[in-house]
Amino acid sequence: MNILLLGAPGAGKGTQAKLLEKRLGLKHIAPGDILRDEVKNETELGIKAKSYMDGGNLVPDSLIIDMMIKRIDKENGVILDGFPRNIAQAEALTEYFRDSGKTLDHVIKISVSEDEIIRRLSGRRVCPECGATYNIMFNPPQKEGICDVDGTALIHRKDDTEETIHKRFSVFDEQTRPIIDYYQQHGGVEIVHGERDVEDIFNGILQYIEEN
Ligand code: AMP
Repeated sequence: MNILLLGAPGAGKGTQAKLLEKRLGLKHIAPGDILRDEVKNETELGIKAKSYMDGGNLVPDSLIIDMMIKRIDKENGVILDGFPRNIAQAEALTEYFRDSGKTLDHVIKISVSEDEIIRRLSGRRVCPECGATYNIMFNPPQKEGICDVDGTALIHRKDDTEETIHKRFSVFDEQTRPIIDYYQQHGGVEIVHGERDVEDIFNGILQYIEEN
């Protein structure tokens, strides 16, 4: 099974993808996580991607599409979180699924208002080791600044500052929102209300997958 999660930055795609990965045994692939690792390790890709990421812009398709398709191709089933992010990427993914004989089974959009997203992202803290996310206001770790899962010091992502959050939101509006229409015309999109408890959203997604 292949699942695509859509939604603005901070909608909760990563959180839900991790839960789905555990429950369904599919591979969670998030280009944002991959790119942050590449930046940390100062690889060629990381060095090229860094300035785009820090500014809240999309990294060029020439660096993203092949890298993502290769990773997807290695797996038996995936949960995509953060790819595709524009029409060119969506078309490349459709072509890949068509050529490989695989199917994209579910496209799910987690819907959250802009105000809520700004609240979530500005308080977000991330574990650079395991990817667990927290929020200093409404989901703090047990010990301030430390990951509950593995004890690593949490980081405030460079692109989670207020100015960059606004930029990322406008990039989402201009470049990523059109792919919702694209998927509505290519098989449909299930909209899931994202301003609920993590568990309620998860159960909503599971119920939809089971029934479709
Ligand atoms: P995310 O963790 O999904 O919010 O992604 C963080 C940053 O990585 C984005 O703001 C972009 O700079 C870059 N990025 C992630 N996914 C993509 C993608 N599919 N295409 C281009 N850039 C991406």
